[in-house]
Amino acid sequence: MAKITLNKNNFFNNLDIIAEHTKTKDKIALVLKDNAYGHGLVEVATMAREYGIKRGVVKSQKEAEQIEHLLEYILVLAEIPEKKSETIRYTINDLSSIKKFPHATKVELKVDSGMHRNGVAPSELKEAFSMIKEQGLILEALFTHHRSADELSGAWFWQNDTFQKAKEEAKALAQEFGFGALRFHSANSASLFRHVEFSEDMARVGIAAYGCMELSSAFTPVKEKKFKPVLSLYAKKLSSRTVKKGERVGYGGTFEAREDCVVSNYDFGYGAGFLRISSNNYTTPHDKELAGRISMDNSSFVCQEEEILIFEDASVMAKAAQTISYEVLTSLKADIKREIF
Ligand SMILES: *Cc1c(COP(=O)(O)O)cnc(C)c1O
Repeated sequence: MAKITLNKNNFFNNLDIIAEHTKTKDKIALVLKDNAYGHGLVEVATMAREYGIKRGVVKSQKEAEQIEHLLEYILVLAEIPEKKSETIRYTINDLSSIKKFPHATKVELKVDSGMHRNGVAPSELKEAFSMIKEQGLILEALFTHHRSADELSGAWFWQNDTFQKAKEEAKALAQEFGFGALRFHSANSASLFRHVEFSEDMARVGIAAYGCMELSSAFTPVKEKKFKPVLSLYAKKLSSRTVKKGERVGYGGTFEAREDCVVSNYDFGYGAGFLRISSNNYTTPHDKELAGRISMDNSSFVCQEEEILIFEDASVMAKAAQTISYEVLTSLKADIKREIF
């Protein structure tokens, strides 16, 4: 069986770097959506708890329930619950959803500061507060999301300005409508590290904790921080054969042996998350050459080891697959065995 190993020391190293920047572990809300970026939801939440993380962010109710016993606070980004919960908070993504939340649900209002994907417009804040009050919901926070925190563009600055104005208005509205003091948060990994002095109430950190943050070379001070990838993927050999010079391997015969060699077939294919676009174009960290196309349940390499390391840094694999580490990681199927060491 292909297997995933999770390096706890690397994970804690990354959390140390993040906590140094937020100045306290309590402000870190670890983003655990999509099976903790493919690492394994319960595995990562368990390690996070051991480290002292108290907050998590997920996509769905189902994810939240699996880790509810491990964290004190969970924010669900994209689901309306059937009943209220003590630990779980839910996101309001637009005005029309407000009347669907059960009475007394703890909610966080997302404001659209310029990404135009989710959230109420700044001009709708007052209406949102009034509807939240009418629905009897407990409003705890106002938050937003950046569209280009990882790129050197002005958007990060004007989105911050827009959010700052929304915060001021929300503070006044919270008083007017009788809500308690609100929490404010806007930072994902890239945005957190663009704040020289981080002063928000919370940061929603995903990719940096997993050690695969890719930033443009302009962000040198951040790139110099020693984040380390947490996840490695290994595949097991199914069979080996000698291939003669000129013979071809796999579907379409796209790999041609340049000389007589041993080619082995390993149990990691696109069905388990090996992105097929990297067919004919990938070499492992230990220089094993991928031979031809990736199949559904397997892939061939020019080598004969019983087990090979497919990747130990998703951002390297991502380059071969012309994508980002997020996609490489979240493509990994949940039934691959995960081991923490
Ligand atoms: C996924 C997500 C994050 C985490 O982003 P990273 O770049 O992985 O740190 C933060 N906030 C929201 C709303 C998200 O959807």
